Amino acid sequence: MIEPMSIPNRARSLALLIAAPVLAQPMFAQGWFDAPLVNTPQVRAALQSVDERATSIVDEWIRLVEIPAPSGKEQARAKYIRAEMEKLGLSEIRTDDMFNVSGVRKGTGGGPVVVLAAHMDTVFPAGTDVKVKRQGDLLRAPGIGDDTSNLMAELEMFRALNRAGIQTKGDLIFLASVQEELGLLGAKHWLESSGYKPDMFVALDVSSREVWYGALRITQFKFFYTSPGAHTMESRGGPSPAKAVAKAITSMYEIPLPPIATGLDSFKLPVINVGMLGGGTVVNAVPREAWFTVDLRSLDSPTQDRLESAVVSTARRIAEQEGVGFRMERKMSADYSKARPQQERLNHPLVQTALAVSNYFRKPGTPAIVPQDVGSTDANNAVAMGIPAVAIGATTERMPHRLEEEDDASSIVPGIQSLIVLAVALTTH
Ligand SMILES: [Zn+2]
Repeated sequence: MIEPMSIPNRARSLALLIAAPVLAQPMFAQGWFDAPLVNTPQVRAALQSVDERATSIVDEWIRLVEIPAPSGKEQARAKYIRAEMEKLGLSEIRTDDMFNVSGVRKGTGGGPVVVLAAHMDTVFPAGTDVKVKRQGDLLRAPGIGDDTSNLMAELEMFRALNRAGIQTKGDLIFLASVQEELGLLGAKHWLESSGYKPDMFVALDVSSREVWYGALRITQFKFFYTSPGAHTMESRGGPSPAKAVAKAITSMYEIPLPPIATGLDSFKLPVINVGMLGGGTVVNAVPREAWFTVDLRSLDSPTQDRLESAVVSTARRIAEQEGVGFRMERKMSADYSKARPQQERLNHPLVQTALAVSNYFRKPGTPAIVPQDVGSTDANNAVAMGIPAVAIGATTERMPHRLEEEDDASSIVPGIQSLIVLAVALTTH
């Protein structure tokens, strides 16, 4: 991007101010955030400029929520974001074949390439009333939080960096992704096809009280049992796919699971869930085919692998016991063979920096934020590819994916300020 005059000098002095205390710290796991960073003149100017614009930011946030963007139909929002990226003066602005929009805020060189991703799509179908209802500070609308709050926060973060003339060392990539809600599809496509090789990936897609550094392993199965079929009158003692399904489902729930992982709020992982079942066409015959599905989720590959083989061998064993035919379909969320071990992900300076910054800006009097080894955001794609990744958020959104979704207007200002500090800390160390 084009910077105002004298930026190189100011940038260098900022870099020195930031670099000195960080380099003095031998503990790398502490991350790259140091409180004095917040008081450097340029960062302070950027933070102040957000305070001054609080009202306009909330107004624009509301306007953005009211641009419908069901998954796969993000075009109108994509157009809006692209136009804003152009005003920001980002380089390499692209809209890809899925309508992911990305742009680069170039650094001075020699720093890491950091992607900040917020998704444009919502889970709400076309025709949903997305008008924002406002009562004072309380904003209510489908999609107000997930993920429009973070999209708005990211946009304003880039504007604030420009306003304060902050020049980072590394490149910051603004990614507005699509089809996140359909299985993280847009960001996956972008990571695989854009040609960028980011050093770090930050998904802005949870609340400001959360820091997620994991990725869920998800495997979905559909098991089919078959038989030649028979009239009820001729069926006694013969093989029955329906009976096999019943036995198999019971057995799935008898597979021993490791203890529930702690610190995940309402999530109880690992888990095996039978979500769908069916088969047969008439009441008075043995079905030729009956089937059921299994949704298996856990937090690490060894556990997932072990449970996957238990699920499959259970399904097969029942087929043999019951004398019915067997086939299966298997769908995996991603190949996690490149994912880094838990301790390495947790101790990465990216995660530690995000944690320190989120805690620095958290609402006074609220409990300290603890990192969670979980994930179901665009960051999963990066984790699977072995790219250091974290998911954070800018506002105190509540009840995502529900029509009653709500958020606090006042939470976005500290949220944006925290993003500014994070972006600078990550790209200027
Ligand atoms: Zn989301």
